[in-house]
Amino acid sequence: MIINSNSIMESNTMIWFRKGLRIHDNPALDQARRGCKHLYPVFVLDPHYLDPDQTAFSPGSARSGLNRIQFLLESLRDLDASLRRLGSRLLLLRGEPAPVVCRLLKDWKIGKLCFEFDTEPYALARDKQVKDFSSKYGIEVHSPVSHTLFNPSDIIGKNGGRPPLTYQSFIALAGRPVDPLTTKYSLLPPIGETGDHELLSVPKIEDLGYGDISQEEFSSFHGGETEALNKLDQVLADKAWVVQFEKPKGDPSAFLKPATTVLSPYLKFGCLSSRYFYKRLNDIYTSVGKHTKPPVSLVGQLLWRDFFYTVAFVTPNFDRMKGNKICKQISWRENEDLFVAWRDGRTGFPWIDAIMIQLKKWGWIHHLARHSVACFLTRGDLFIHWEKGRDVFERLLIDSDWAVNNGNWLWLSCSSFFYQYFRIYSPISFGKKYDPNGNYIRHFLPVLKDFPKEYIYEPWTAPLSVQKKANCIIGRDYPKPVVNHEIASKECKKKMGEAIASPTSKIIPQDQKASSSSRKKQHHNDSHEIPFLKIKQRKNMK
Ligand code: FAD
Repeated sequence: MIINSNSIMESNTMIWFRKGLRIHDNPALDQARRGCKHLYPVFVLDPHYLDPDQTAFSPGSARSGLNRIQFLLESLRDLDASLRRLGSRLLLLRGEPAPVVCRLLKDWKIGKLCFEFDTEPYALARDKQVKDFSSKYGIEVHSPVSHTLFNPSDIIGKNGGRPPLTYQSFIALAGRPVDPLTTKYSLLPPIGETGDHELLSVPKIEDLGYGDISQEEFSSFHGGETEALNKLDQVLADKAWVVQFEKPKGDPSAFLKPATTVLSPYLKFGCLSSRYFYKRLNDIYTSVGKHTKPPVSLVGQLLWRDFFYTVAFVTPNFDRMKGNKICKQISWRENEDLFVAWRDGRTGFPWIDAIMIQLKKWGWIHHLARHSVACFLTRGDLFIHWEKGRDVFERLLIDSDWAVNNGNWLWLSCSSFFYQYFRIYSPISFGKKYDPNGNYIRHFLPVLKDFPKEYIYEPWTAPLSVQKKANCIIGRDYPKPVVNHEIASKECKKKMGEAIASPTSKIIPQDQKASSSSRKKQHHNDSHEIPFLKIKQRKNMK
């Protein structure tokens, strides 16, 4: 249906973009353009996310590295271009979003405000200020849910007011999501007077004051709805791949052509609607017939996202151990040197270090690569707090997502959802299974590029003559391993066993209290990890 939005003209309306940086399937935009004389599309650059932090371990702000900031700016540029094609444009301002928006509401005499509902604690507090202001001044507010497939409140309501704490129980409650909107616009209502507010054009990353960024290598993944929809078309063109997709079977070392869709950053910023993605997948399933199922299918991946959003929405202190009722209380070790070695890709384990370098350079790594480094940092080798790893991911990932990142770190550290702490990813043999020649390591750690494949995963075991020939002396040009994996992983298992048995850590939520056999079954169903373990990885789990 093509709609010319100028048909009924009543008041001034604002569409406030935050996530949801798209035109397609955007219920907030759709509600905003109805029956208004002037439509003000606003985005506020938030210092909370963007102010330079010169003390951070890499250029960027306190919360975000440059890759994600770049991705956001690209997404804004694309949104502005799309709005311009519809006779409008993005009104960009800078400052504390809530007070800025409240000022604009008043100055532009806005009668209706529309924005996509956001479940994150920071956003909820911000939006409450704006909603309170709006209700005081009689401004109508519409805040539809469209970042996720389902409204987390609906699922929680169906579950008696509690979040489902297993993927299976989530699926049983969820049903099918509503279809995405199919409305296409030919024109949006014009922008009215903007007064003397300083309206910016989308800045270049160099203009934001992050210091010397000339040495930085930027991610090759570019932001924006246009890019998202093109990528979606490319990914879905291979229908056989879509219907056979089984997440645990993907190769984490495939970097030239990643084994998964790499749509996560577009979903994070809402350049791509998850409902639209779901619908396109379902259309393919219907047309082809036979297809894989959750939890391993592509639809299953989207459901994982919604699962974590639902739990995170109503779990107090979801992003920390203390005060978090679904998180095991573990005495993680403090060791800044080990942590920094992990963060900077200097552990001496090439598989781990290559992943951390890819994360730093590209802002994206494969799911099982995330598993490898998260397990290594926490319960696998270093026994360092998951919150420290979470912070590094939060900063460096272009898809960094509050609910999903925290949920997965809770999972990987066996602090919640998954408790098979004795299953540890080997930092040596896990990667070797996929990439025996070590091409991934050679690419991201060029210092090791001339090592023979026999030693590429354990270069410290190479005779000095081999090291000399490879122009890389271990301990001088590349670090020795920071721990002995055999010893460290045994110690970790012992500590995790004790921690989990300790009465203070017994905060197992009600629907996790399954018998050990039924728990095994449940994990088989719930996890990306378990089917995979059965197929490929058993030997690597020590
Ligand atoms: P695909 O396999 O193509 O999946 C399609 C979409 O499904 C993804 O884009 C994502 O939105 C969703 N999805 C896939 N796997 C998961 C999962 N395990 N949990 C929730 N949603 C999922 N994902 C993020 O989007 N942001 C994060 O901050 C994040 N942090 C993570 C931290 C750790 C320690 C781990 C182990 C995983 C994390 N993930 C995160 C989940 C997952 O690794 C990524 O979503 C996925 O690798 C993104 O690549 P893709 O788009 O190619 O995924």
